[in-house]
Amino acid sequence: MSRLRVALAKGRLFEPSVARFRAAGIDPAGDAGRRLLIPSSDPGIEFLVVKPADVPVYVESGAADLGITGTDVLRETGADVLEPLELGFGYCRLVVASPAQGRYPQLEGGITPRVATKYPRLAQAHFAAAGRPVDIIQVNGSVEVAPLLRLSHWIVDLVDTGNTLRANGLVERETILECGAVLVANRASQKLKLEAYLGVMERLEAVGR
Ligand code: AMP
Repeated sequence: MSRLRVALAKGRLFEPSVARFRAAGIDPAGDAGRRLLIPSSDPGIEFLVVKPADVPVYVESGAADLGITGTDVLRETGADVLEPLELGFGYCRLVVASPAQGRYPQLEGGITPRVATKYPRLAQAHFAAAGRPVDIIQVNGSVEVAPLLRLSHWIVDLVDTGNTLRANGLVERETILECGAVLVANRASQKLKLEAYLGVMERLEAVGR
């Protein structure tokens, strides 16, 4: 039987992803530590641990057969992969937020809003669809601080509890996307390794119910 390589994202989704595979009887061998390729208790499956934004890249290219990623990252990259399974964790929202005190959606004097985000494509598409001009500023983290530092007027970012927004004096104005963790699959390997693929899917589905 062919071997499947599964790309997992470091960060928030990592523990629940591993827990789901464990429940399905597929246990990563030992602590990931510094190793990026990790064998599992199932000789037919190995794990690859990468940055969240890289999961769609590895799976689309076929360097990994399967992966777990958030739909936020997936839509932002626009990767051409299959999405056979919603996993029921990692729920959050991609939202537009702005300072509680400031005007919204118009700024004083008709200035074009600057919007800081890790999601330039999704943010641009959202405002373009509404015919609202904005200048997108791409940052890679700590987005919530951008309005405080006058880097931007607004932000587009992920929200879970809303605590981070509140702590930075921001309020949620619009939802762009409801997000959650999904299993993604490479189009070719789903066909070429069908038996192994269906086996894993069945086990993951069974423990998700
Ligand atoms: P919260 O304070 O609970 O609203 O969480 C917001 C912070 O956590 C922001 O910095 C987000 O970028 C991050 N965050 C929330 N949910 C997720 C998620 N599902 N995946 C990755 N980052 C997230």
